[in-house]
Amino acid sequence: MKVAIYPGSFDPITNGHLDILKRAARIFDKIIVLVAINPGKQSRFSTKDRVEMIKEATQDMPNIEVDSFDGLTVQYAKQKGATHLIRGLRAVSDFEYEFRLASANEFANASIDMVFFMARGDKTFISSSAIIELHKSGVDISPLVPESVIKRL
Ligand code: ADP
Repeated sequence: MKVAIYPGSFDPITNGHLDILKRAARIFDKIIVLVAINPGKQSRFSTKDRVEMIKEATQDMPNIEVDSFDGLTVQYAKQKGATHLIRGLRAVSDFEYEFRLASANEFANASIDMVFFMARGDKTFISSSAIIELHKSGVDISPLVPESVIKRL
């Protein structure tokens, strides 16, 4: 069974994240969406809320699980028997960060490889922070996030 981890802040989950997840779910038998607990990073939503929003948004997807973890993702992946980490790329600016992250992960555990999905054209501008800004300014963001997020805003 091919298992992959999709790690991230998901603060909150967006339709950009969900698009990557749906595409990856066609390749792997099981994907664990992993909410990273980063004590050094101020989050908008609690870990529990972030997990719940993803669970609700993925309830119709049979091969998706949701979890949270406060250690290194590659260590979590090893515990779960996962072979790949999934990430998304929106712009060249994402590349630099993702490339450094991939190198650090490789140093920590070279047997776990990373798989990248290019953001779809209509989703390249979607980020958790952009959604919060648009919402604060009164823009209707319902086409950009799942219902589970709208409910909690
Ligand atoms: P992190 O803080 O770990 O970057 P995010 O929740 O911001 O967590 O993103 C998780 C992953 O999803 C990252 O690889 C990011 O590039 C990717 N991602 C976020 N939004 C999109 C999008 N609209 N299209 C494609 N990939 C995306």
